[in-house]
Amino acid sequence: METEKRNSETMEEKDKRPKAVALLSGGLDSTLAILVMLRQGVDVHAITFLTHFGCDITDSSSCSRDPFPAARKFGFQLKLAHLADKFFEIVKNPKFGHGKNMNPCVDCRILMLREAKTYMELIGADFLVTGEVLGQRPMSQRRDSFPLIDREAGVEGLVLRPLSAKLLPETLPEKRGLVNRELLYGFRGRTRKPQMALAAELGLEEYPTPAGGCLLTEPTYAWRLRDLLEHNPDPSLRDIELLRTGRHFRLSEEARLIVGRNHEENEKIAALTERGDMLLSVEGVGSPLSLLAGGPDDEAVIRLAARITARYSDAKGLPSVEVTVRRDDEVSYLPVPPAGNDILDELRIAVPEGGGKRGRKRNRKAGVPRHEEVSLSHI
Ligand code: SF4
Repeated sequence: METEKRNSETMEEKDKRPKAVALLSGGLDSTLAILVMLRQGVDVHAITFLTHFGCDITDSSSCSRDPFPAARKFGFQLKLAHLADKFFEIVKNPKFGHGKNMNPCVDCRILMLREAKTYMELIGADFLVTGEVLGQRPMSQRRDSFPLIDREAGVEGLVLRPLSAKLLPETLPEKRGLVNRELLYGFRGRTRKPQMALAAELGLEEYPTPAGGCLLTEPTYAWRLRDLLEHNPDPSLRDIELLRTGRHFRLSEEARLIVGRNHEENEKIAALTERGDMLLSVEGVGSPLSLLAGGPDDEAVIRLAARITARYSDAKGLPSVEVTVRRDDEVSYLPVPPAGNDILDELRIAVPEGGGKRGRKRNRKAGVPRHEEVSLSHI
């Protein structure tokens, strides 16, 4: 009887607690923001967004971290939500532009806050929480970015940023007395020392090292994605997935060659192969598995793909190498000289040394597009 009474009191007490939806990447700042809220008695429901571009628990990109151990340890609710096509749309056409690479950070924050607001309304929460720190990131964490992002997301006044709250205008949860502004923080800039001290104080022992962002912030990845979108504005998820693997070469307007760099990548390439793709390898020696995607009916392109595959095999020192070419159930053998460095340099989809200029030139000699660095607007 006494226990039942205590349980129902506990439920009532819980219902009376302010409720917040927190964006959680699994990184130090977003976890700390939640812990600061928990310390104030807020009932925190965290949401971790997933995209096809890393920064989440499904891969090992720089900023990824499994957030479930922290949720279990500190006692808050957590759910995962995949942004899927909504996110890809803003990657392709961001209203507020890309950052230094292909990262649409402002649009990304807007989208996440919009989705979080929907969840907030669904569960009857009072406000939103993020781990953003003023001035930490050049694009989305500037003083003028926060109001813009909140306005665009339709969450003005609802977003509490506990780590920098003392430097920002009072939010609705502070005005309503749901949280105590005095117990919030005024962190600013890129240094992590104050956060590390707070983590120690709050018992947060494990957190990832500082990260630059999702895969879209990585120059090589961004370059590959840009190349893909230039040649195919509506790529499949498979095409996106392939961007993470191997060496990439642009052989024609339609054809891309992905060359595995090790056994693991060869296996991944094999797993991502679709009907109609061409797979190339050199049998009997250490060899990459190469996937020729798009335009595999062009003999010159197949020959080029075979030469590049031979170049990365252990038979690269031979004057002629027999390359096995498989397509669906057909197998053929193509003797070719391994490609020279000039061909590799010409066709590799990679950011050239020292940056470059906007736009791309066409290599008249080889009849293939040449990849020049694009001068992207700095953020
Ligand atoms: S780096 Fe930018 S685009 Fe990528 S997840 Fe973070 S905010 Fe979004």
